[in-house]
Amino acid sequence: MTSTEQRLNIPSTVKDPHYRYTMPKIQITTQGSGNGIKTNWVNLPDVSNALKVPLEYPIKFIARELGSNTETKNNSYLINGSHKVETMQEVLDKFIRKYVLCPKCHIPEIHGKIRIGKKNEIKCTCRSCGATSKLDSEHNFAAYIRSYPPPYEKDIEIEKAGKKIEKKGGEKKLDKKMKTSIKECCLNLPKIIKDEDGVEKNIEYIKEFLGKYNFNIDIKFYCFSFGIFPNEIYTKSFLDRIPLIKHFIEKESDNRQEEALYNVLIGLQDLIFSRQKGENQKYVSSVLYYLYDNDIITEDFWLKYIGGSIQEKYNSIFNMEEAEKKLKEAAKDFTDWIENGPYEGEENETKKEEKETEGKKEEKVDEKEENKAEDDEDDEKGKKKGKKKKGKKKKEKEKEKEKADKDKKKDSEELKKEEKPEEKPEEKKEEEKKEEEKKQEKKEEEEIDIDNI
Ligand SMILES: [Zn+2]
Repeated sequence: MTSTEQRLNIPSTVKDPHYRYTMPKIQITTQGSGNGIKTNWVNLPDVSNALKVPLEYPIKFIARELGSNTETKNNSYLINGSHKVETMQEVLDKFIRKYVLCPKCHIPEIHGKIRIGKKNEIKCTCRSCGATSKLDSEHNFAAYIRSYPPPYEKDIEIEKAGKKIEKKGGEKKLDKKMKTSIKECCLNLPKIIKDEDGVEKNIEYIKEFLGKYNFNIDIKFYCFSFGIFPNEIYTKSFLDRIPLIKHFIEKESDNRQEEALYNVLIGLQDLIFSRQKGENQKYVSSVLYYLYDNDIITEDFWLKYIGGSIQEKYNSIFNMEEAEKKLKEAAKDFTDWIENGPYEGEENETKKEEKETEGKKEEKVDEKEENKAEDDEDDEKGKKKGKKKKGKKKKEKEKEKEKADKDKKKDSEELKKEEKPEEKPEEKKEEEKKEEEKKQEKKEEEEIDIDNI
């Protein structure tokens, strides 16, 4: 009774007809009769494969749920008793919800990332959303998992290696025509921005402009972040453009914002390392603090970026390995701060008044903490740093600013003004505009270097 294979979503309750995660529908036959009747799960190996779980997990789980025993004979997978496909499918969905889906994003991307914790709890880390969560450790199937844990990590390493080769194979290389369009777009984008018109209007201008090019999200955001900024980072004219980034990303649907942010980062990366080498690199951490402060880069995003999972996930068409390495190096201060938080001593030194101002931000931090998966060692670390980090952030930012002031005396006025951007005297505006224009010209003279894409 092997009918043409019918596929169901993982779990079958997901109704999306184009869902990317599917499994074969359970196929069974019955054997024997009377008390000796058994259900033979004909396509168990295919189902287990699709779910990326060890072969016997689904049948063991279902048997436990149905209060039955299993038996394997000559490659036949048997459950004692006669069971209906519908019942088995329902129980299989239960198994999927408990041990195949990420408890946070409900996507089946925890395979190879399931492990037994110190207190015998079953934990997983999601390859899609990065959350670490606890799986049902009380169910009687949990004991089976403890005795026969699924393979951990190894298969993922192999997969990763495969992906890298694919990437290096250049299947995603841009053709010449596309490169020319990108160059042209990056070059002309700054011309349509009118700072005096405000963020909302400028977003409309940019959208209209980019719309002419029919770029995908990678290229769109690359051009956007490479194009809209002046050559020198961490100047006032640079920082003034940051609200544009924020709004532009937020215009994307929720599930594309992370990807958009990643592509903004790629554009910035290129800006920092290919346009004005040297000088810009000193301010990388400062810019990142600023982006963090403006809720553009989140702690979660940055850790995933540093760990490489963002890159794996979106597999950008831009080959940025070199620039990425450099950015990570240049951003060491920022990464250290995200990962470790302030030293105890430093925290104690923090002035009381500073703490008061920090208080306002506390809510935001708590919200973020709630979103994180609980009871994980890593997460505990995260919580500590989450509570402490504000002090350091301010301090670091100030330190960076001091550095900037020293190094760039010309810019010091601009940097101070950055604190209150809304108070912009008219004449200053004019001056900036001129300066901006000068920079633009300079930029056009320099060929935009996008050869490494
Ligand atoms: Zn997830």
